[in-house]
Amino acid sequence: MSDRRTRKPRTVRAQTARASAPAAKVAKKPAKKSASQTRSQTARAKRPVVRKAKTSEVAQRRAVIATALDMCRTGLSPGRSGNVSCRWPGGMLITPSGMAYEEIEPADIVFVADDGSVRPKSRKPSSEWQFHLSAYHARPDRHAVIHTHSMHATVLACAHKSIPAFHYMVAIAGGMDIPLVSYATFGTKELADIVAAGLAERDACLMANHGQIAVGTTLGSALELAHEVEFLAEQYFKVLTLGKPKLLSTSEMKVVLERFKGYGQHAQD
Ligand SMILES: [Zn+2]
Repeated sequence: MSDRRTRKPRTVRAQTARASAPAAKVAKKPAKKSASQTRSQTARAKRPVVRKAKTSEVAQRRAVIATALDMCRTGLSPGRSGNVSCRWPGGMLITPSGMAYEEIEPADIVFVADDGSVRPKSRKPSSEWQFHLSAYHARPDRHAVIHTHSMHATVLACAHKSIPAFHYMVAIAGGMDIPLVSYATFGTKELADIVAAGLAERDACLMANHGQIAVGTTLGSALELAHEVEFLAEQYFKVLTLGKPKLLSTSEMKVVLERFKGYGQHAQD
């Protein structure tokens, strides 16, 4: 869509993924059931209970949901594709498997420990929990992970094309390009290892025959990067239709990367 550039994603920057995040006010969960409750009634009835003392964990669960809903609203995650997580002491909080984002409540978000275990009676984590966990192991400096099958990033990934320095903004992922990591079956340890290797060098990667993954210091910054990768993928896809693109030189990209250190993600302003 042509207005994507001006329509900045609504971020949830205020709610960081750090364990030290202040506890947000936790809204009371509706306790009453009524005949008018819709299809989520059964799901709600079975929801695990989040320990009351961990209000900051509940706030963080809400931030994960807000990020997932933003992906949905802005078209970043067609269908039910995509998943969101943030680091949490001892592991991570991740969206559950097989639930529509609109129906997810804080108790549905799954805590997955560093060893891959989940708490008793919790939901099943996203099928891609292994590469979320491997991303945190590969990048101790990043605290949130977004994975989507966003349209243009996925188109390029299926054509086995990385995004080279056709535009200086590719530096936003932390290097001279946005690389493509090789294919492995979804939900496998093999894919988790491949993604971890890709993210060791960059904050975002395309995943062959699959989609994209982006990491950030907060849920908001990871989400913003995922939007930026999708936008760059769309631009690059269109440039390719005009012929062979003129790429920026390595020396020019070194200058850009140096400037990005000072400007951060606002280098496009
Ligand atoms: Zn996927």
